[in-house]
Amino acid sequence: MDLTIAKPDLELKARARNFAETVLFPQELELELKGCLPAATLAKLRQAVIDNGFNAINHAREHGGQGLSIFQQTLVNEELGKSTGALWSVVWHPAIPLKNGTPEQIRDYLVPNCQGKRRGVFAITEPGAGSDPRQVQTRADRRNGRYYLSGEKWFVTAGNVADYLIVHAHVDGDASKPTLFLVDKVLPGVRIKRMPKFMHTYVFEHPEFVFENVELDESRVLGKVGGGFELTKDWFVEARLQISANCLGASIRAAEIANAYAAERVQFGRPIRDFQAIEFMLADMAVEIMAAKSMIYRVAWEIDRGLDRKLVHARASATKLFASEMAGRVIDRALQILGGRGYMRENPVERLYRDIRVDRIWEGTSEIQRAIIGGQIKKRGLGPYVDWG
Ligand SMILES: Cc1cc2nc3c(=O)[nH]c(=O)nc-3n(C[C@H](O)[C@H](O)[C@H](O)COP(=O)(O)OP(=O)(O)OC[C@H]3O[C@@H](n4cnc5c(N)ncnc54)[C@H](O)[C@@H]3O)c2cc1C
Repeated sequence: MDLTIAKPDLELKARARNFAETVLFPQELELELKGCLPAATLAKLRQAVIDNGFNAINHAREHGGQGLSIFQQTLVNEELGKSTGALWSVVWHPAIPLKNGTPEQIRDYLVPNCQGKRRGVFAITEPGAGSDPRQVQTRADRRNGRYYLSGEKWFVTAGNVADYLIVHAHVDGDASKPTLFLVDKVLPGVRIKRMPKFMHTYVFEHPEFVFENVELDESRVLGKVGGGFELTKDWFVEARLQISANCLGASIRAAEIANAYAAERVQFGRPIRDFQAIEFMLADMAVEIMAAKSMIYRVAWEIDRGLDRKLVHARASATKLFASEMAGRVIDRALQILGGRGYMRENPVERLYRDIRVDRIWEGTSEIQRAIIGGQIKKRGLGPYVDWG
């Protein structure tokens, strides 16, 4: 067994770290204090993503992406995940199901998205459909060879800056026909209803959208009618791995800050790290990060080696569950070590504390990940989790 990371991959990771530290981190305080970044700054960031070759790391070069392996993407996402305010999300990853599009869809949606000329977002959740997307009420009624989309989508991340949405809807209101549609935001009948505020400061918004009889021709069906769930599953797997890597990076940054502070902060005549209570917290943090990293790198590496799709799904859930909960524990301890300073919004640890809370909710809550894992164990035994390979 050789667990060495190849030199080019280490160089890629170092490049991503440098990008996070020199391009993203300097925007954090302004974003936190103002709640958003000026359009000119966002444009500068978009250009920096391209100049540094981080646009569409998850898509093939022939489509304008970087063609990185899953393992390489994990290394990059770990570094980007250290940024607060979700600045990692200025580095766009066009949704993976787009690669299953028709040649025209690839030309009109995927390629310009990879190049940073258009931005797409994924809209599944609704007021009555969260963990259970089968309850989706958004419908696409078929009449005279066209579709008419009506419904409401919530929490559409980056919907305020998107050019198009990938909307999960039921054809003719039939739950056995879940289907994805490519919906341009400028189309008549598409509107943002509300832009609620959330616990985290996020570089973009999560608006609620309403669709009123939006007319779409057949070319806007992504994949096939009734194939929406399969494609959405691919999106979930990818998003869960990305979240895992982001959580890992966020935890490492918080632990590094706490570790440095524990060495310099003196109380009762000695550095606080000399108190066993603090030392033990640092020890637990380091061990948890080590465990998460081992798990995430392993699963990413296995996927690149052609891991069976069912196992990919099973293990992506496990990494997301563990990494998001681990990040909650580690960052909470980091904040504790920093004392009152850890509670100040100017401190990255305070921001990370709020930022990572959503990772236990979106792309499948922790409870849903446990249900997936439990279901896998029931079907296949413990093998997917306790065996190797
Ligand atoms: C900031 C933010 C951004 C988001 N971005 C997007 C986006 O871009 N696109 C998108 O489509 N969605 C997005 N979401 C939605 C997100 O994926 C959902 O919030 C999530 O799937 C949970 O759905 P829900 O909020 O309706 O909770 P519910 O499904 O109503 O769950 C409520 C509680 O019940 C629990 N529960 C539900 N079912 C079960 C069960 N079977 N067993 C045990 N417990 C259960 C849940 O775990 C949770 O604790 C976003 C959410 C947030 C907060």
